[in-house]
Amino acid sequence: MDDPALDDRIRKIGREIFSRVTESSRFSSPLARLDDAMMAWSMRNERRKSRLFRFVDCLPSLRSSQAIARHLREYLHISLPGFSPVVAAAATLGVSRMARKFIAADDLDHAVKTIAELRRKRLAFTVDLLGEAVVSESEADQFQRRYLELVELLPARLAGFAEDSLIDRDAAGAIPRANVSVKLSSLFSQFDPINPAGTSQAVLARLRPIIRMARKNGAMINLDMEQFAFKDLTLEIFKSVFTEDEFHDWPDAGIAIQAYLRCTLDDLKGLAEWSQRRGTPVWVRLVKGAYWDFETVVAAQNGWPVAVFIDKAQTDANFESAAAFLIENRHLLRPAIASHNVRSIAATLAHAQRCGAKPAEIEFQMLFGMADAVKTALVQMNHRVRVYAPVGRLLPGMAYLVRRLLENTSNESFLRAGFIDRVPEEQLLMSPILRKRRPAARPIPAFTNEPPVDFSLQSSRDDMARAIAAFSAQGRAEVPLLIAGQRIFTDQWIESINPSHKSRVVARCAGASAEHANQAVAAAKTAFAAWRDVPAEDRARLLDRVADILLRDRFELAAVEIAECAKPWREAHADIAEAIDFCRYYAWQMRQLASPAGADVPGERNRWLYESRGPAAVIAPWNFPLAILCGMAAAAVVAGNPVVLKPAEQSPLVAFHLARAYEEAGAPPGVVNYLPGVGEEVGPVLVEHPDVAIIAFTGSRAVGLSINHLASEPRDNQDHVKRVIVEMGGKNAIIIDEDADLDETVAGVVTSAFGYSGQKCSACSRAVVLTGVYDAFLARLIEAVASLKIAPAEDPGCRIGPVIDAEAHRRILAAVERGKRDARLAFAGDTGPLADEGYYIAPHVFADVPPSSPLATEEIFGPVLSVISARSLDDALSIADGVQYALTGGIFSRSPANIARARREFRVGNLYINRQITGALVGRQPFGGFKLSGGGTQAGGPDYLRHFLMPRCVTENTLRHGFAADAE
Ligand code: NAD
Repeated sequence: MDDPALDDRIRKIGREIFSRVTESSRFSSPLARLDDAMMAWSMRNERRKSRLFRFVDCLPSLRSSQAIARHLREYLHISLPGFSPVVAAAATLGVSRMARKFIAADDLDHAVKTIAELRRKRLAFTVDLLGEAVVSESEADQFQRRYLELVELLPARLAGFAEDSLIDRDAAGAIPRANVSVKLSSLFSQFDPINPAGTSQAVLARLRPIIRMARKNGAMINLDMEQFAFKDLTLEIFKSVFTEDEFHDWPDAGIAIQAYLRCTLDDLKGLAEWSQRRGTPVWVRLVKGAYWDFETVVAAQNGWPVAVFIDKAQTDANFESAAAFLIENRHLLRPAIASHNVRSIAATLAHAQRCGAKPAEIEFQMLFGMADAVKTALVQMNHRVRVYAPVGRLLPGMAYLVRRLLENTSNESFLRAGFIDRVPEEQLLMSPILRKRRPAARPIPAFTNEPPVDFSLQSSRDDMARAIAAFSAQGRAEVPLLIAGQRIFTDQWIESINPSHKSRVVARCAGASAEHANQAVAAAKTAFAAWRDVPAEDRARLLDRVADILLRDRFELAAVEIAECAKPWREAHADIAEAIDFCRYYAWQMRQLASPAGADVPGERNRWLYESRGPAAVIAPWNFPLAILCGMAAAAVVAGNPVVLKPAEQSPLVAFHLARAYEEAGAPPGVVNYLPGVGEEVGPVLVEHPDVAIIAFTGSRAVGLSINHLASEPRDNQDHVKRVIVEMGGKNAIIIDEDADLDETVAGVVTSAFGYSGQKCSACSRAVVLTGVYDAFLARLIEAVASLKIAPAEDPGCRIGPVIDAEAHRRILAAVERGKRDARLAFAGDTGPLADEGYYIAPHVFADVPPSSPLATEEIFGPVLSVISARSLDDALSIADGVQYALTGGIFSRSPANIARARREFRVGNLYINRQITGALVGRQPFGGFKLSGGGTQAGGPDYLRHFLMPRCVTENTLRHGFAADAE
């Protein structure tokens, strides 16, 4: 602290608060002490703590005593056979009691009683409505109704209370008694910063009536702040609505700002300037922030910079600076300081005194059920304290409860330090600047995934919009073949159509004939002689350069994918990032494999090495138009095998960009040949060609199996066995257990089943649901699916775009028609006016699907989901495994035993537990299936590259006439 006088003052105030806290704690009830003791018990062992909280988290979803007893056994190893109803009841009672400590009320009447009690203690309040995550528009409507009810009824119910000037007035006069906190994500199920305009519009349509009603009845509205990705948009919506004519002079509006963000002060400055222009101040609730774990995990998983401070002391220091800023600008931003940390509170008070702020100008806020002694101390010192009071039913409140428990017991928690670990007062009051730690150095991993584009940033959205505009201004592209470095136009054209707007031709591409295919193989064969001897390091560098080029052009490429394949923004970028990852990953792998290994014994030297195989035909699908083609090609090329790229007919332009990237990166002529053409015509020529040594294919089962068959037969002049790598389709299932978290399950199933309109080999096409949750799951699922926006792929709000082409459109609709004979069509969306514009198919959900019907066993490759009921986990596993495919699968469950069984018995190439089943990342989730889904050659994993190489072993006897010489 660079201001010793201020620091002295802070410590003095802090000591005063502590002495009052000690005084009032002496009178705390035995029950409160019991809670503290329980909390302390759970914390003594981190594993126990985490298991206990996980049990608490899933308890409300357990529907029988047996289920509760089983989970107690699985999580806490508490086992009392024969007594399960008693144990279950006791556990439920204990957790409910804990929940009631933090959840103020379950309905309005109860809330009014709690508020009356708070007022008796001279405490103000703000209501926070607890609820499930909003996954559908009908749930957003319900939330809006609950908010409206609050702001309509609460003020009248509170009007009868006698005024208490400490809490009902501030320095400027009366303030509303009814105070409601609103989460914007609860007002729109598709809240997404990628689409700020659409999100604002939908949120505002539901928010305005709430504000209007609040204003009419004299209630205050405070917007809560959620995860960092939503922050800018939340601020924007706040500023925009409170600038509107109807609300610009309304003083009873506020917003929360989080001090754990590095950008807190910039945001506060922006708000202050805006408030100045507006002419009426707003409230700012300054909090530390409740999503720290989430933010750090999301940043680590995506390779994004971390928006929050890693060191808690930095957050505390930032909080003090932000509080000081608010106090200095209190005529614009009225400070509501929300913290339980005595040091933070004392620092605020010391700064306020120094600035001559009146006590009534600053409000303190604390959570219901936490730090009650600190609240009492502040009230005694004549400060206004507002209690953040969550209201709602226990079930949806459980997530809130677990957050509070974690907060109370985290190693960084002030409450834990102060009230449980009994850290000395002077240490607790120490300036946070003195507590700062040095960050630990992190080891640099050998391979890292390319971070996805962050569309919560305005700059990313602008770049994407510009690239789309630039691409559509270019007009139709004309694409040649590329053989041995020569551009060749043919007399056959393949048109690639924009699936979102079928009258638009994206590109005209030269179509290869059988003769061209032979030329391309000849070019690859010629190039092979030299390419196989290029040092592995140089071949790896070529891939690194290709990765750099793709990265440089990522927005341009995404614009091509959006137009040519109707990939929505995020999906297009994910495809490009994956292509970049493949290049870098296989380059890294090749460097490892290049140094020969061996097991020597005295007198004998053994060297194992990898040799290139020969020309490779790379035959790719359109659904990951860059990544899959690029991945197969990169593996071949870096292993020393020249390639003939045969892209799908639907995506030749994206593929041409890859061929050009190799050219620009300096690939010698003939190493990468580009041969767009009709699969049935050129495909078999490549497959059967005697000089083709490797066939890397990804696509449908029918084509994959025919390739496998054709390639097995040696032709004239063929002197090798062809290596065939086939990755084919799937009929992927997600099992939904009775104790699954439905918020996450519904979101995970929707993303897995309908992302890119279900046109992913990993897509979920079967939801296998245990009977206990079947109805609840299906009802929420249908509402969620009905809320997905159907739009052209270039629209950032697009959740369901068109399918790839006319043929797929016809095939999928026919499957739907056929499906109606076997099962109940529970939901069919409507494409509305888009029906004639492109190949749109609305999402479809079939329910009560017989597990062996074609609907439940054959790949459809479109936005069609079959929901199947299962009596037990045994039943669910046998349904899930009972198809000819074994590609991806998933389970949502909170039972450790059931998860363990799924790990073992749900036999698929990629199994995902409690998350979506799409979106495998190179190096993290090697991807590929078996049975009739593929040959078990997982791409992007440690084994893949070996399929493109021929292992050899060289053994040398180093013994010469009885003495062991070193080999040369
Ligand atoms: P597809 O089989 O129709 O086409 C794939 C490629 O094969 C195209 O380039 C096509 O031109 C070519 N081809 C067609 N007939 C051929 C023949 N007779 N000989 C040689 N090549 C021929 O598949 P698609 O519609 O492009 O892709 C969708 C399918 O791909 C789905 O079944 C999906 O599950 C599967 N897929 C699997 C994976 C995986 O990793 N397992 C990944 C993506 C897609």
